[in-house]
This record gives sequence, C-alpha cells and structure tokens, in this order.
Amino acid sequence: MRRPLVAGNWKMHGSRESVAQLVQGLLSEQVGEGNVDCAVFPVAIHLSSVLAQVAGSKLSVGAQVCAAQSGQGAFTGEVAAEQLQDLGCKAVLVGHSERRQLFAETDALVAGKFAAALRAGLTPVLCVGESLAEREAQQTEAIVLQQLRAVIELCGAEALRQAVVAYEPVWAIGTGLTATPEQAQAVHKVIRDEIAVHGSEIAAQVRIVYGGSVKAANAAELFAMPDIDGGLVGGASLDAKEFAAICRAA
Ligand code: PEP
Repeated sequence: MRRPLVAGNWKMHGSRESVAQLVQGLLSEQVGEGNVDCAVFPVAIHLSSVLAQVAGSKLSVGAQVCAAQSGQGAFTGEVAAEQLQDLGCKAVLVGHSERRQLFAETDALVAGKFAAALRAGLTPVLCVGESLAEREAQQTEAIVLQQLRAVIELCGAEALRQAVVAYEPVWAIGTGLTATPEQAQAVHKVIRDEIAVHGSEIAAQVRIVYGGSVKAANAAELFAMPDIDGGLVGGASLDAKEFAAICRAA
C-alpha cells in the first residue's frame, strides 16, 4: 500500500510575514498528522524560517529547485542539493514545467538535477507533463515517457524507489482546468507501466501524484483513482484551510 503524499508548491509567493502566517495556519489545521505525508515547498530564502517553524511537527519541507552540480563551487546563484539537505530539507522539485518552459531546463538537465538530489539524500519530485498542443497532437504519452526515460537512462530505474513522480499536464497548471480523474489515471498508468518494465516491485512502490488545479472540491475524486497517490498543489496550497482539506481528501 502506497502512503499518499500531498505537496504544496508555493512558487515565487509570500513575504516573511505571510509565509509565517500560512505555516501557522497549516500547523493549527494539523496538516501532516493523519495517514498522509504532507510537504510544502517555499521559495529558497524562506526555507530556514519555515523549517524552524515546523520543527517537531509532521509537516516536511522541500525546495523548488536545486543545482545539477554537487557539493560546492563557482556556480553563482545556484543552491546545491547538499546545502538543502544540510538545512533540513527532505525533498526537491525537479523538472517543474515552469522551469522547463521559462528557464529552458531540458530533459538532460532535469535528469542531472534528479541525480544531484539523490546524491544528497533528498527525495526528488520529478515533474512530467504535456502541453495543450502536445495533448491535442496525441503526444501525451510520448512526451511524458521521454521525460521519464531521461531520468531512468541517467540514474537507473532503481533510483525511482527514492523518488516521487508528479504528473502535471501543463494545460492544467494555474489555469483552473483540471484533468478529469480518468484522464489523469490513464497517464499515471502509462507512467507506472513504464516503470514496471524495469521492475514490477519498483512500479508498485513509486508514488505518482497528480498536479494541475487541484483543490478541495476535486481532490477526493482524483485521489480515488488506483494509480493516483496524492497531489502536487500550486495555487490552492497558499490557503491553509484549503490545503488542509486537500490533505484530508488523500
Ligand atoms: C503546480 O505548480 O505544480 C501546480 C500544480 O499549480 P496549480 O495547482 O496552481 O495548478
């Protein structure tokens, strides 16, 4: 049985004060206390304060991005996975569609970041997903598998045991459009079947979460699908009560 995971991607949102209030709200809602793993992904400069605030709670904290380079070095502006781990982070998003689209992160770079996260002992949350044009051109499966295979080729399928895969159709991110539970399930199954080619036990173990305009009103029906193990939530994770309700639905 896979334990559900609900993760909140806060993107480039929040001030010190609003983030502290949001965390306070999540703690009062006892987010993370049930049979579901809950994690939040604040902007890098807020990681330390959020980590301090959640200490002793079940809420875990991850980063939105890390460098593909390990250790330390002359990489101005980058943050190494080891530095995130040293700070207390447990996970890092890799390959979010905004990074792929707006910051030109290629499949190869994403795979490099995935490998760097693993080396540092972080859980990489590998985001994959197709654009609207790709879906309309019937390329969903090909795109998602290409993104997944880039990681498997570099790191091996065994590495997925330490990871989470997030299926996030780009057309559903921040648009209010959600994949239907059946649409999402179909792609989650494609992902799990591909992993099963390398080992059925690995496939059975890997958590595959759905992201794309998840909210309290649609979470339960999405999470009820057999291959959907929780959610990666953007906009709705900025409201403590809404995020807590999504966590309860998992
Ligand atoms: C995301 O950015 O990962 C996301 C799923 O955003 P939203 O929930 O706002 O669509």
